[in-house]
Amino acid sequence: MNPLIRLDRQFVWHPFTQMRDWLKQKPILIVSGRGATVRDVTGRDYLDANASIWTNLHGHRHPKINAAIQRQLGKIAHSSALGFANEPASVLAGRLVAAANPASKKKPHRLGKVFYSDDGSTALEVALKLAYEFTRRTRGPKSRPQFLSLQGAYHGDTIGAVSLGHIDLFHRAYGGMLFPTSKAMAPYCYRCPFNRAKPERADARHYRKCQWECVGQVEKKFSAQKKRGNPYAAFVFEPLMQGAAGMIPQPAGWLRQVTDIARRHGALLIADEVMTGFGRTGVTGQDKDSAIPKTDPLPVTAPLFATGRAGVTPDFLCVAKGLTGGYLPMAATLTSQKVFDAFLGGYEEFKTFFHGHSFTGNQLGAAAALASLDLLQTKQSVLQRARLQKCLHQELQTLWPLPQVGDIRQVGLVAGIELVKDWRTRAPFELRERAGIRVCEAMARRGVLTRPIGNVIALMPPYCTTPDQLRRMVGALREAVTEALASSGTISGSTSRAKT
Ligand SMILES: *Cc1c(COP(=O)(O)O)cnc(C)c1O
Repeated sequence: MNPLIRLDRQFVWHPFTQMRDWLKQKPILIVSGRGATVRDVTGRDYLDANASIWTNLHGHRHPKINAAIQRQLGKIAHSSALGFANEPASVLAGRLVAAANPASKKKPHRLGKVFYSDDGSTALEVALKLAYEFTRRTRGPKSRPQFLSLQGAYHGDTIGAVSLGHIDLFHRAYGGMLFPTSKAMAPYCYRCPFNRAKPERADARHYRKCQWECVGQVEKKFSAQKKRGNPYAAFVFEPLMQGAAGMIPQPAGWLRQVTDIARRHGALLIADEVMTGFGRTGVTGQDKDSAIPKTDPLPVTAPLFATGRAGVTPDFLCVAKGLTGGYLPMAATLTSQKVFDAFLGGYEEFKTFFHGHSFTGNQLGAAAALASLDLLQTKQSVLQRARLQKCLHQELQTLWPLPQVGDIRQVGLVAGIELVKDWRTRAPFELRERAGIRVCEAMARRGVLTRPIGNVIALMPPYCTTPDQLRRMVGALREAVTEALASSGTISGSTSRAKT
C-alpha cells in the first residue's frame, strides 16, 4: 500500500464519513490539480465535478491566483486583525461591498461593512450573533430574538449554524446543545404536497400546478409569531437554491415574495450565499431560473450574488467557499451601517462586538480573493460562464431517458439530479440503499468525482470546465446510473417496481 494512504488510514478522521466504510476501501489520494482536473497518487486524472465540495471557481493551480498568493507570501502570510489593519483585507472589503450592492449613485450602500472570518459556518455565526444583539439593542435588552429558517436548511456545523439547520440526520444527535429556531416551508416543487402535477420529464418547477401555497405558509409563520408578541428577529435563507438540502431550487418569484413578507414583519434578512455566491447561480436572467440563457446579446457584467440576481438586498450577506476561488479558507459577513452603528459607543459602554478569530482578515486568503474577483469580473469570464451554463443545460437533457432520473434541477452553474426508483411514481430510494453513493462510486471509476446528497447527485463544474469535460462529467453520471441502478427495484433485494 502507498505509504501516504497508510498514514491516512492510520491517523486521519474524515468529515461526514462513516470511517468503517472508508477503511474498507482504498481512498483516492490527491496530489495535484490543474484546471478542472485533479490527479491522484497513482497518476490518474479525475474531473472535479463538484468543484472540490463547491469551493473552486476558476480551476486548480490558476496562474493568476497562484501568483497573487506567491506575491503576498513575499510580503507577509498573516498578521492579526485584532489591533491591526492590513493591505489586502482593506482592498478586498471595498471590492466585496462594490460587488454586493446594486450599482446606484444616489443611495449609500446597504451592505457597507465587512466582518471577516474563516469558513461558512463562522460567517453564519457572525450574522446570527450580530442580528441577535442588534435586535436586543433596538427592541430592548429583555427581548428574546427568534430566528426563522427554511425546511431542510443547512448553514454549517458550529452550534449556532446547526441551530439554524433543519436536517434531522445531521442535527438530531446534538438537539440538547442547540437553541430553538423556527422552520418555514421551503419550496421543493418536485416533492411538494401542494403540487398537483403528475411527474413529467422536466424540471418540476416548470410544470408545477399550485397556488403558491408555500409562500402562504411562510406568511402564516410570520403572522403567528407576531400574534405571540415577538415577531421574528431574522429570516435566514439560501437564495435561489438550497444546496445541502438536496440542490433544491426556488421557483421564479418565490424569493422576492417571501423576503417582502419578512420585511413587512420587521425581520432582518440573513442571506447565506456560501454556496450560491460568486457567480454560481449563473449570469443571465433575473430570478427566473435561467436554465436556458439568452445568449444574444451575451451579458458583459453580471451580479455575482444570487440575491443580486433576484433583486433582493439582505441585511447580512454570508460568503465563504468560493470567496478565495476555493484556494484558502476565508469567509466574510457583510452587513449594514445601521447594524454597525448599534455597536458604537464609549469603550465603557461595552457595546463592542466581542467576537473574532485568530486568522480573521488573513492576507493570503484576501490576496487570493482579490485575484479571484479580478478574474470573475472580466468579460471573458462572464462569457465563459454563460457558455458553460448553456452547455450544462444541454448535456443534462441527455439524462431524461433514464427511468431512475426523477428531477433535474439547474440554477446557473449548479445542478442537482434526483434519483428515484421509477420516475412515474417518484418513489424514493431508501437512504440505506446508498443509491447516491453507489452512483458516485461508479462515476469515480469513470474518472469523475462528486459527492451525493442522499439520492441527489450534485454537479458543480469549475468555471474553466471545457464543453468536452462537461460532456464527460454528465456522460459518466449517465453510465453510472445505468450501472449502479439499472434494475433499480432489485437493489437490496426489494421487488421490482417496473411497470412493464
Ligand atoms: C458549506 C456551506 C456552509 C458551511 O460552510 P463551511 O465552510 O463548510 O463551514 C454554510 N452554508 C451553506 C449554504 C453551505 O453550502
